[in-house]
Amino acid sequence: APAMIPVARHGIRRDHVSLGARRTCETLQQAGYKAYIVGGAVRDLIAGIDPKDYDIATDAEPEQVRALFRRARIIGRRFQIVHVMQGGETLEVSTFRAAHDAHTVKDEHGRVLRDNVFGSIAEDAARRDFTVNALYYDPSSETVIDYHHGVADLQQKTLRMIGEPKLRYREDPVRMLRAVRLSAKLGLTLDPAVRAPIREMAELMENVPAARLFDEMLKLLFSGHSVECLKRLRDDGLHHGLLPMLDVILEQPLGEKFVMLSLANTDARVKAGKSLSPGYLFATLLWHEVLANWEIRKARGEVPIPALYEAMDEVLDAQGEKLAITRRIVGDIKDIWSLQPRFEKRAGKSPYRLIELPRFRAGYDFLVLRAESGEIGMDIADWWDAFQNADHEGREALLIPDS
Ligand code: ATP
Ligand code: MG
Repeated sequence: APAMIPVARHGIRRDHVSLGARRTCETLQQAGYKAYIVGGAVRDLIAGIDPKDYDIATDAEPEQVRALFRRARIIGRRFQIVHVMQGGETLEVSTFRAAHDAHTVKDEHGRVLRDNVFGSIAEDAARRDFTVNALYYDPSSETVIDYHHGVADLQQKTLRMIGEPKLRYREDPVRMLRAVRLSAKLGLTLDPAVRAPIREMAELMENVPAARLFDEMLKLLFSGHSVECLKRLRDDGLHHGLLPMLDVILEQPLGEKFVMLSLANTDARVKAGKSLSPGYLFATLLWHEVLANWEIRKARGEVPIPALYEAMDEVLDAQGEKLAITRRIVGDIKDIWSLQPRFEKRAGKSPYRLIELPRFRAGYDFLVLRAESGEIGMDIADWWDAFQNADHEGREALLIPDS
């Protein structure tokens, strides 16, 4: 039987929970179903972090859920969940799911391809990854249902796997990345059994579809804790082979300062609730690869600008094999990179045209980061700052005819 943890031990009061999540649970319960807030939101509430979204778990099936709400739609084909809209919130409601071997289809490495069988709440808890992610909160009774000792693990700041870590990593190698991301986010220590197999199993990441890997990479980079995540990965030597880009990011001495500055900026933007641009971030992560490739080409006597474009394509193609960077983001990355040589020209009409481009701002921010990391002189970034802010006469006076 699961532990029923009272509010005195977990501390989540009903009114800490978003109104939409509360109402969704109430509506389901009034119709006779079980309904709980589950997963990351419960974990975050106990840890004193404001959840960014709420998931609800219920024994009602998707059609039954939809029928209870005015604004709700079923999404997903293979595994259906219901999006319920309440005020400005969207709640993800999923039916308790089992992950029994008998129902589960795996590939030759043991990776789970399909697990879409409804089950009991106990089965639903058992298929989740970490004990701290398998907590169910009932807003009406303010009780947490805890099958796997998650509340105690969270309070003792330990990230522990449900079941045998090696098996769970084989089922879904992405859990290795989740372990690092969640431990950084919550300041948890990895249980030795969670940590130990990662090094030897990292190569299983190769079997994960490139699109899923890209999603996971974005989650890690935009977690608000990317610097901490990467530090943890490197300290443990876990980045080798785990994500194609991590080797690039963490193994280039020249690029390190630049990448770390960029990630620290990104973390600060996440914490301030500012908008984020994946293209800009990936452009920074891969820039020193491009620079190195470009240098080799220039040394071979290739014409500089075409050589830059060749270098850009080569670097992006190499990443694209493992990581499905979406086409739109690739476009953004290239825009930012290809603007960089144009900042050198500070004569004639060129600077005037440059500042009118829609991508100027991103390109300029990128230039400043290059200067701050010591790759180029600060004078060029200062010049563009002055040029942007000057009136027409001021701009004319700033132009450097021989550049
Ligand atoms: P975040 O703060 O990033 O949202 P989260 O734990 O809520 O963290 P989600 O990806 O939103 O992460 O997943 C919601 C829940 O689904 C998790 O808390 C966990 O219970 C379960 N889950 C997610 N991914 C996996 C996985 N790969 N294997 C098993 N369970 C998972
Ligand atoms: Mg979540």
